[in-house]
Amino acid sequence: MRTSLRAKLLAGFAIDLVLMILLGWFASQQMGRMNERATFVEQQTIPSLDTIARMSTVINRYQVGQLEYLIYSNPYDKDRSRQKMGDLEAEMERYFADYQPLITSDEEQRRFEAVLVAWQRVVTANYERFIPAVALANTGSVQPFYSRMNPLYGDLSEAMEALSAEGQTQATSALEEVRATYLSAQTVIIGDTGLTILISAVIGLVLSGRIALRIGRLTSATAQVAAGDLDRQVEVVSRDELGTLAQSFNQMVTSLREQRSILEQRNEELHTSLLRQEQLTADLVRGKQAEEEAQRAQAAAEAASQAKSMFLANMSHELRTPLNAILGYAQLLKMGVGAGDPEAQGCYLDSILGAGRHLTSLISNVLDFSKIEQGKIELHIGPVEIAPLIHEVADIVTPLVQQQKNELRVNMPPDIGSMLTDGPKVRQVLFNLLSNAAKFTEAGTISLEVNALDESPAMIEFAVIDTGIGISAEHLQQLFQPFSQVDSSVTRRVDGTGLGLALSRQLCRALGGEISVTSEPGHGSTFRVVLPVGDLIEEPAQPVYNLA
Ligand code: ADP
Repeated sequence: MRTSLRAKLLAGFAIDLVLMILLGWFASQQMGRMNERATFVEQQTIPSLDTIARMSTVINRYQVGQLEYLIYSNPYDKDRSRQKMGDLEAEMERYFADYQPLITSDEEQRRFEAVLVAWQRVVTANYERFIPAVALANTGSVQPFYSRMNPLYGDLSEAMEALSAEGQTQATSALEEVRATYLSAQTVIIGDTGLTILISAVIGLVLSGRIALRIGRLTSATAQVAAGDLDRQVEVVSRDELGTLAQSFNQMVTSLREQRSILEQRNEELHTSLLRQEQLTADLVRGKQAEEEAQRAQAAAEAASQAKSMFLANMSHELRTPLNAILGYAQLLKMGVGAGDPEAQGCYLDSILGAGRHLTSLISNVLDFSKIEQGKIELHIGPVEIAPLIHEVADIVTPLVQQQKNELRVNMPPDIGSMLTDGPKVRQVLFNLLSNAAKFTEAGTISLEVNALDESPAMIEFAVIDTGIGISAEHLQQLFQPFSQVDSSVTRRVDGTGLGLALSRQLCRALGGEISVTSEPGHGSTFRVVLPVGDLIEEPAQPVYNLA
């Protein structure tokens, strides 16, 4: 049933109001009743008793008047007494007339009429028997005449008492009624007030208790929902305002649950889409990387091809130069130029020899490199005394070093010892480095330093340090690439094939070592060759290394 809290409170208030109205109505009824009884006592009983008292006085005075009439002998006095009795009769008539409207019951009417009859008898007896008897017997005792009236006065007195008793009874019963009305009103007012208070208290306590209980449930449910428990529902006890609130709360929680599941679904979708996007990005990156690698490979291939073309052009030039010299001088000799001048002919022959050697060196370099390119190089490993090897290289290179006014310095510990390696290849590498240093240094110093490195495995370091033109950082990157030359113009100025350093690196690696360079343009370069002493490279079973 849908009863709102407001209606319940109003119903409680209405019950209280009805009780109060009933109480007021009852109290006013009771007070009206008491007022009526009090009015009755005041306006009926008291005047009637008062009239009865006055009537008794008149009767007494009438009796006294009779006695005076009997006693007085003087006619004047007798007349006055008669006069007085007549006045009293008139007064009595007035009292009867006054009393008549005060009569409230048949019993009283009957008793009043009895008084009336008894009084009439007294008056009648007075005029018909007493006064004539007194007049006839002027003398003698008064007793006989007066005594004859006594029974009549006795009847009158009795009737008066009966009437008075009736009045008293009525007054007493009216007062009793007022008292009873007062007591019952008191009981009802106290009871009604108590009932009103009880009903108010019960309604207040029950309603407030239930409201507090339901609000408490809602509060705890709200706290649980706030903590994330969206499965929480509140029992809808009734369909009042709190019931509607509980219903709205349940709807809100259901809606929140739906929203959350939608959000979770969206989140899931987003996550999946994110993963897909990441996958796509990764694919793209991979594609991009592959593309970059392909581009790099292509660029490297293009660079290699370009370097090869350049190398071929250089090689052709380098080969043609000594060949032209050989052909030129041979032609001169054949034509007989310088015939008879053995010195000039010797000079021509020296030039032919020098050009031939240069040609041999060039071809040997190309052949070596070609072998390396094919991945095959022959190594002849054996114990090599380091000091004699170094001195040999220094002796060979000294004239070249001195050509450009350079000084050669060799620094080597005296106990440098020996190593297990391919001596001619080491010599070739060092010669190449030293001749490069000599080519690119003018009036400077070229140092060859040899040191045993304190490493495991034991290594020997050969450092060729010059104070020449140096190499830029950009060129350092590609220095050991085959067919690369730093500056064609410089290369043109000095001899070179662009294969020396590439060959040197391949040889160092074949010997189990490495070559590196540091340089500062304008201040010189340092080439370091580090080779194992020999405990790593055992006697090779096969003197051929596959370098692929
Ligand atoms: P090449 O036989 O032409 O000298 P290399 O491979 O030995 O070929 O050298 C490649 C290039 O490296 C040289 O042409 C030169 O430009 C540069 N280079 C080598 N050594 C030095 C050095 N000590 N100082 C300056 N430049 C050098």
